[in-house]
Formats: sequence, C-alpha cells, structure tokens
Amino acid sequence: MAEQSGQNAQAPITQDVMTIPRKLPEGGKINLIGLTRDGLRAALIEAGTPEKQAKMRTGQIWQWLYHWGVRDFASMTNLSKDYRAQLAERFEIAIPEVVSKQVSADGTRKYLVRIAGGHEVEVVYIPETDRGTLCISSQVGCTLTCSFCHTGTQKLVRNLTAAEIIGQVMMARDDLDEWPEPGVGTGDAGPRLLSNIVLMGMGEPLYNFENVRDAMKIAMDGEGIALSRRRITLSTSGVVPEIAKTAEEIGCLLAVSFHATTDEVRDRLVPINKRWNIEALLDALREYPKVSNSERITFEYVMLKDVNDSDEDARRLVRLISGIPAKINLIPFNEWPGAPYQRSDWARIESFADIIYKAGYASPIRTPRGEDIMAACGQLKSATERARKSRKQIEAEVQQG
Ligand code: SAH
Ligand code: SF4
Repeated sequence: MAEQSGQNAQAPITQDVMTIPRKLPEGGKINLIGLTRDGLRAALIEAGTPEKQAKMRTGQIWQWLYHWGVRDFASMTNLSKDYRAQLAERFEIAIPEVVSKQVSADGTRKYLVRIAGGHEVEVVYIPETDRGTLCISSQVGCTLTCSFCHTGTQKLVRNLTAAEIIGQVMMARDDLDEWPEPGVGTGDAGPRLLSNIVLMGMGEPLYNFENVRDAMKIAMDGEGIALSRRRITLSTSGVVPEIAKTAEEIGCLLAVSFHATTDEVRDRLVPINKRWNIEALLDALREYPKVSNSERITFEYVMLKDVNDSDEDARRLVRLISGIPAKINLIPFNEWPGAPYQRSDWARIESFADIIYKAGYASPIRTPRGEDIMAACGQLKSATERARKSRKQIEAEVQQG
C-alpha cells in the first residue's frame, strides 16, 4: 500500500484532538455505557464483584443496558438489592441529553444532543419504507476541512467517547420507543424502526477509531442492540492507514467520500487527498472487501456544478474504480449559508448517473432528506459553534488548494 504517496507536509490535517478520559476524577462515578464487555467486567471487579461471578454479572448487566434499555440499577431485578446499591454508588448509566428535536415534513428527525463540556452534536433519523437509518456523529466538528462541507467550517473539535457514540443510538431508540418492555417482549418481533446506522454525521470516524470501534461492537453485540455488521456503514474521507484496521476490527460496510477524479480537484475538495492521494486510497479500497468479507464499497460523490460533474469525470470515475465491487452514491450538493459551490443541474446529474449505470454500476442519486430542517448530508453543524469561518476565508482556502 502506497501509504505516504502524495504527502504534503503543509496540509492542514491533524487528528490531534482531545478525548475525554473514560474515568472521571476521584469521587466521580464511572459511566458503564460505552465500555466493551472486557471493560465492563474489569470495572465490576474493581468495584468489588468477585472474579468468579464477574462473567455472569457482566452478561446480566449488559442485557439490561443494551437489550432492555434500562437506565437505573434499581430496575435490574435479577441482581440482589445490595449488589444494585453497590453498583449505584460506583457507577452511572449516562447517555447524551436531547436538547431539541425537529421533525421534517418528510418524517426525518433531527436531534440536537448535548455532551460533556456543553458541546452539541447532531443526529438524524431517516425513515424509509423498508428501513430506518440513523446517521450518527463521531466528533464535535471535524479537523478536516473539505471545502463543500458545513461541518468542516466548525472550528471546535473534540472526539466523542464510545458512550457518546453508542448513546446516540440509545437516545434514538428511546425516542422511537423501540426497547422491548422488560418481561414482556423480546424485541425481535416485527421490522425495526432503527434498522441501520451510518457514520455520516459530524466528524471523521477514522480519526476517532477506538471509540467508534468500541461503540459499533456494542451495537453489533448479539445480546444487545444486535444490528448486523452489514447494517452499519462507516463513511471516511480517506484515512488510508485506518481503512485496513476498519476491515479487521469492525468489519462493517465502508463508504468513501471520493468526490473527484483527479488529484488536482480532490486536493481542493477533500484536502486529506494531499496526504493520501487517489491512487493510495484506491489501493486500500481494493483490499477492503477481501479482508472484511463484505460486498460493495459505496463511493460517495457530491455533485458540484462545473467542478466535478462533467461526462469526462464520470468516465474517469468508472476507469478508476474498475475491479472494485462498488456502488456509486451521487449526492446533489446540499447548500448551506456561505457555501462556495452550487448544486449541479438535474440534467447534468442524470447524465453523469447514466454513464456510470451503463458501465455496470448501481448509481443511485441520493434524495436529499430533511432539507427543511437542515438535516441533509454535510449540513450538520452544532448550534453552539456559531463562530463560522467567513465566506471569504473559505473561498481563499479553496483557491489555495
Ligand atoms: N467525515 C466522513 C463522514 C461524514 S460526511 C466523510 O467525509 O466521509 C458524510 C457524507 O456527506 C460525505 O460523503 C461528505 O463528503 C458528504 N457531504 C459533506 N458536505 C456535503 C454537502 N454540503 N452536500 C452533500 N454532501 C456533503
Ligand atoms: Fe470532515 Fe467529512 Fe466534512 Fe470532510 S466531509 S470536513 S471529513 S465531516
């Protein structure tokens, strides 16, 4: 893998962001949400659970948290009263708090949730006839500065903890009333309202790898939320070294923000391309399906008028991805205040889609959802971070490349 090809030491790329430590200072309670099974077991032992019982207790508590969606120790009725009290003294069960919820005319729900430190992130639920997809965030803001993305203009960045990531899923299940009722149902009946997760909200998931991995492991665990790895899609801008790790350690489906067919244009749109260029990215993508045993990779391609939307681009795209099992998701650009681009005309998008389709690839055009509540892809930006770069600043950066 040509890991470093196209590297540019000047590129404004950093993953040097703060992560809140899992353990709170002396006297504070440890949050059980977000711990892996091993982590939960270790925490229980540390709190006085005899080692011999730890595996069983871990299993019981895990089910209460992630199968039944219970939020207080008192409800964990298969544990003794004393033990429940002991747990309540040392631990808490905390997920992000919902600050506001907006429902679009098309049924899309956008939640603003507050996390530690008073930061806010957005979570979007998209109901469709055969599925319900939750679009979750992995960071507050994003260290990357893709020039067409609203999140990329947000200055403040912090990694979300595993608790805050899986907590978004739990919050949505609360709102959809989708936890089975203790002692009544198993939760297996009927189609799920929340059946799919996409990591396409705010942030670059592969710059917060461990927390994203741990949270997705929890979502996939068969004794809890139990979503299949094929119902989880992680979208990356192209953090090449982490792509192989995603295949090995998470095994979910992969989407990649491709968006351009030459390095010159991709450098401007997705600046991480200066670090890992198209060739390096394609090398990593070729390996992904083999290692993760998954089907197709989704190539996301935002349609920007007169920037990346020509027939020639479409033909070049087909040539570039040849040999990779792929689906190409065309995303009409979602405008935001001050954005330096326009959405391609509909006829242009269709012509582009047609070339790809005739080359044998599925080329769905993503219908913008929740536009009336600014919930569409790339429009997410926390309300607490109004300090936005000026239009001039964004334009200058686009010019500089
Ligand atoms: N950071 C990750 C995931 C979040 S963005 C990534 O970049 O892949 C989810 C998708 O929305 C990405 O493909 C992103 O490029 C795209 N996107 C960002 N801003 C957009 C906009 N204004 N209109 C349409 N798509 C956008
Ligand atoms: Fe970050 Fe993805 Fe937006 Fe780029 S498109 S700035 S990687 S969130």
